[in-house]
Amino acid sequence: MALIKCHDCGGEVSSTAEKCPKCGAPTPLTVNASVIAMIVAAAALLAIFFVYWAVYG
Ligand SMILES: [Zn+2]
Repeated sequence: MALIKCHDCGGEVSSTAEKCPKCGAPTPLTVNASVIAMIVAAAALLAIFFVYWAVYG
């Protein structure tokens, strides 16, 4: 369990909470964070592959 920042009011929200206790904004950040992490990892792998491919043919 971790604390994430509410994108609406900036308050701290538990990552397991469905919405911010302060302003009631939904917190899809837990899902988004893992999706973004996967996309970044995939993009990094692709970038490394393309650099390798460009240098070594
Ligand atoms: Zn909030």
